[in-house]
Amino acid sequence: MNDALHTERPLERIISGQETSDGAGVKLRRSIGAAGGRLDPFLMLDEFGTENPDDYIAGFPPHPHRGFETVTFMIDGHMRHEDHMGNVGELNSGGVQWMTAGRGVIHSEMPQQESGRMRGFQLWVNLPANEKMKPAAYRDIPASDIPGAVLENGVAFKVIAGRVGLGGRTFAGPVNGERGAMATDPQFVDLAMPVGTRLELPIPAGHNAFVYLYEGRVAIGGRTLERHQAAILGQGDHVAIHGTDGVARLIVVSGRPLGEPVAQYGPFVMNTRAEIDQALADYRDGRLTGPGA
Ligand code: MN
Repeated sequence: MNDALHTERPLERIISGQETSDGAGVKLRRSIGAAGGRLDPFLMLDEFGTENPDDYIAGFPPHPHRGFETVTFMIDGHMRHEDHMGNVGELNSGGVQWMTAGRGVIHSEMPQQESGRMRGFQLWVNLPANEKMKPAAYRDIPASDIPGAVLENGVAFKVIAGRVGLGGRTFAGPVNGERGAMATDPQFVDLAMPVGTRLELPIPAGHNAFVYLYEGRVAIGGRTLERHQAAILGQGDHVAIHGTDGVARLIVVSGRPLGEPVAQYGPFVMNTRAEIDQALADYRDGRLTGPGA
């Protein structure tokens, strides 16, 4: 028990990941951002996970983004990304790429393996109106830079974003607002929970939050969450999770809602239709990523 925690977040609704494809035919399961809608500030969550190279080998050839951030968490596999700024990065098992598209990025995300398992997540995090046109930036975060621990009860965790107090210590993820206050103040935790374990995970009050299960089974508030399902949580300062089958693997993600209108056309996410039209014109005219670019 953690004395500082008072209000357990209820499980409000479950969204089952829906099979879809994107890029050049990569098979995905989309939960947030599919029929269940967005969860401000999160626009989309895709899980990719397969042992069949035909499902991922074509990758994501060059494509644009404007107005938000993409977070890629690679659980297994190897991808290379290249962007219009000349950046080349390698994303390996356990690593994260946190990319701020800002006013515009054109990049590719291509598998660097021809066999074996590839799995992970891509999360889209919105930017507030006054940051949508800031310069593009990205960080490659290797697994070795992501702090975590195994608790006495056998629950293992990693903190990718935000600050989390667990087991009497505070863990600061590599993405924690040190680049300047992040309007969405995201918290992103990856968990492995053996059957029979229980965890009370602090989540900042006021954040919107969800849990996504990618292996095993857990229970939250007396309801069972199955593989490939997202649980949207209600308000509170923590979530209580029980591992109920095998070793459950899940991510818990939260962020401060922006409360702004969202206008989205594919990979462009702005506040108004006029700004979308501008993004399309800029992309067509070669000005997406900067003046005269
Ligand atoms: Mn992309």
